[in-house]
Amino acid sequence: MISRRIVIVGAGFGGLACAKELAGTDADVTLIDRRNYHLFVPLLYQVATAALSPADIARPIRRIFGRYRNIHTVLGEVTAIDTAAKTIRVDDGHTFPYDVLVLATGSQYSYFGHPEWQRFAEGPRTLDEARRIRTRLLTAFERAEAADDAAERDRLMTIVIVGGGPTGVEMAGAVGELTRHALARDFRHIDPRRAHVLLIEAGPRLLPSFPKSLSDYAKQALERLGVTVMLSQPVQNIDAGGVMIGGKRVAAGTVVWGAGVQASNIGRLLKAELARGGQILVDTNLAVRGLSDVYALGDVALTPGDDGRPLPALAQVAKQQGEYLGRALAESNVPVTPFRFHNRGDTAVIGRNAAVFDFGRFQVKGYFAWLLWALIHVYLLVGFENRLGVVSHWVWNYLTYERGARLIMEESRGEQNS
Ligand SMILES: Cc1cc2nc3c(=O)[nH]c(=O)nc-3n(C[C@H](O)[C@H](O)[C@H](O)COP(=O)(O)OP(=O)(O)OC[C@H]3O[C@@H](n4cnc5c(N)ncnc54)[C@H](O)[C@@H]3O)c2cc1C
Repeated sequence: MISRRIVIVGAGFGGLACAKELAGTDADVTLIDRRNYHLFVPLLYQVATAALSPADIARPIRRIFGRYRNIHTVLGEVTAIDTAAKTIRVDDGHTFPYDVLVLATGSQYSYFGHPEWQRFAEGPRTLDEARRIRTRLLTAFERAEAADDAAERDRLMTIVIVGGGPTGVEMAGAVGELTRHALARDFRHIDPRRAHVLLIEAGPRLLPSFPKSLSDYAKQALERLGVTVMLSQPVQNIDAGGVMIGGKRVAAGTVVWGAGVQASNIGRLLKAELARGGQILVDTNLAVRGLSDVYALGDVALTPGDDGRPLPALAQVAKQQGEYLGRALAESNVPVTPFRFHNRGDTAVIGRNAAVFDFGRFQVKGYFAWLLWALIHVYLLVGFENRLGVVSHWVWNYLTYERGARLIMEESRGEQNS
């Protein structure tokens, strides 16, 4: 009997969970990703702020599935999908036939119609971006140390973070700690504690998807760290020298983006209906509307929740969807029962001893939430060889206020901060 050929595109949270359910079954699985590693995206901001090294949060895909004969790993970017012939093509020209296709290609930052801003304000979505942000930040302080002009020194020591969702809040807290503690003692001519860290949000409060009490707590905790929080202030322009907000120019050495996300481009390769953010519209069983044997999950899909509203773009949604679909396909069934999302709690960490957790029926904030956040993330890193390394970095950082990964990478230094 010829086993079913299942092609999964994307080895992020959703694709990986789906492939794991199919590992060791009689399905013939091809897992394609443009990277050779699975990335633990929620900790990228810690790479961008020198708390962790890239290898701490990335795990080779081939290593994860090495012992399963039915999983074939392919390094390549999918560039064409032919749903009539049931084939997909990757960038090196290879074509793969499928009986079932699963799309789990995630999302990317959206610059609200201003793609030209990306050059000046990257967001932490890939390891390369996180490393470039780290380089930009650390280079700005090196240049400030050498600057003779006071206005230029001030500009270089101003860091603007755009977007008050979890990414922006986590970045702002981590940058606040970096400047107040880790960098504080190491310069001779500048005092990094006097750096200006600005968090700019277009809406009236931080963390808009959380209850208001947690938004207020996050704002206060950031202000205690020295971060200036600016609410109801949409960014009007970003260029090499800084940002425009409310008709005023803020000169900045580093601008970090954490404002909006849109689905990865793969939806455009399908002749299927897309939502405004580029997400592929799927039914409650994750089947792509209007196509047979094609499924989409995670950030790239727009899935209706129990209340009819789309499910949020979260790792826990992608992972649960991957498990659900993988289990159904392992039984060689088309999933018939609808996917149900079980909210395990939404979280954002603000800094040492400060985090928020929203479990829907109750909320937790402060030290306990921070401890819970750390324990859960250590648990979620199961399978990462260097989990012990991450824990030891965190304990060391906590005790010493240090940041061990303060490396400026030469290849991405280029024209930084100018
Ligand atoms: C900074 C940041 C912090 C976050 N923090 C949290 C958090 O604390 N908790 C939480 O629940 N969620 C968090 N999220 C959201 C979470 O990371 C995403 O919801 C999750 O990664 C989505 O999983 P996915 O499997 O859909 O996509 P991803 O995990 O992004 O994986 C997509 C994969 O597809 C691959 N790919 C893309 N296009 C192609 C192509 N054409 N060909 C081949 N491969 C391709 C990519 O290389 C990638 O490996 C955060 C996101 C960001 C950016």
